[in-house]
Amino acid sequence: MTESTDDNYSRKRESMVVEQIERRGIRDSAVLASMRAIPRHRFVPKKDLARAYSDTPLPIGLDQTISQPYIVARMSEMLQLPRKNPRNPVRVLEIGTGCGYQTAVLARLADLVYSIEVIPDLAKTATERLSGLQNVHIRCADGFAGWPDAAPFDGILVAAAPPKIPPPLLAQLKVGGRLIIPVGTDQQQLMAVERTADDWIYEQALPVRFVPMVGQARE
Ligand code: SAH
Repeated sequence: MTESTDDNYSRKRESMVVEQIERRGIRDSAVLASMRAIPRHRFVPKKDLARAYSDTPLPIGLDQTISQPYIVARMSEMLQLPRKNPRNPVRVLEIGTGCGYQTAVLARLADLVYSIEVIPDLAKTATERLSGLQNVHIRCADGFAGWPDAAPFDGILVAAAPPKIPPPLLAQLKVGGRLIIPVGTDQQQLMAVERTADDWIYEQALPVRFVPMVGQARE
């Protein structure tokens, strides 16, 4: 029973990757492998199990969502992370852990993943769910301030939209590092910001719809 159900999920996951992600142009082999590996059905509420691999965000309670699979893959690819290397660890910061799905995807792409969630119940559930991943650190806090003790980062991925880019996140990028962040209120744009030796280069990628970043971003 369990086995045939797992088979069923594996099949659905494979078609998710082929139809929603590869077909829309995602080519990064590490990202595709990670999307193939992470069991998305373990991150959605039981009542939505049948929709775990559908082409849409889903509610996870507390007014929050699990992002659409394509968006998770696209943002992961946009980070353009260097290849994992334990001697010179690739470090990623995520703001908005939510259910922890994106965190799990990132944990295969980076040596160290730091993730911040502002809602205590979500932070707790995600910490329990991801307790088997030694390279993931989750903290309950306002992500506006980033995670200075763990900086600088090769990549910062933000899953909640502030009206403007929080300056601490720009400051916590390595030179060559990239910040992927939805910005705006009613209309949001997904932005990619790359830090160079003496500047930050901004690029607008696509219109998106994320939950608002709460806390200091609103002040
Ligand atoms: N990464 C998730 C999607 C998260 S939804 C996935 O894998 O699908 C966005 C999350 O950002 C929500 O859980 C919300 O509570 C959180 N959030 C909103 N404002 C925040 C803030 N200031 N700091 C940290 N997390 C925040």
